[in-house]
Amino acid sequence: MTDTHCLFCKIIAGQIPSRKVFEDEHLYAFHDIAPWAPVHFLVVPKLHIPSMAQLTPEHAPLMGHLMTLLPQLALAQGCRPYPEGGYRIVTNTGVEGGQEVHHMHWHVMGGPRPWLRG
Ligand code: AMP
Ligand code: ZN
Repeated sequence: MTDTHCLFCKIIAGQIPSRKVFEDEHLYAFHDIAPWAPVHFLVVPKLHIPSMAQLTPEHAPLMGHLMTLLPQLALAQGCRPYPEGGYRIVTNTGVEGGQEVHHMHWHVMGGPRPWLRG
C-alpha cells in the first residue's frame, strides 16, 4: 500500500532522491536531509502507515523486525557502542507530537555531542 501524495512513499519508490542507508523487503532507511546530529537517519516501513496511531496487532512482526534492526544500523552508521556512545531513537506521532511527514518513521541520531538539536 502506498500513498501517491506521500513524500516518503515517493522516496521509497525512488521518485525523489535519497541517500540510502539500508533496504530490505519491508524497510527503507535514508539520511535525514536536515540532520540534528553527526549521525541522523530515518527508518520507514515500505507500507504506508501514517503514524504509530494506526498500528494494529498485525503489525507486531514488522515492529519487532524494525526495533531489533535499529541498533545494528546505528552502529553501522558510526554511532559508538553503548554505554559511552549510544544514540537517540525518536518517533513523532501526530501534529502535537511534532510529526511533519505522515508516513511513520524512526529518527536515529547519534555521534559526538554537541548536536544541533535533540
Ligand atoms: P518528523 O517531524 O518526525 O515528521 O520528521 C520529518 C523528517 O523528515 C525531518 O527531520 C526532515 O528533515 C526529514 N525530511 C524531510 N524531507 C526529506 C527528504 N526529502 N529527504 C530526507 N529527509 C527529509
Ligand atoms: Zn507514505
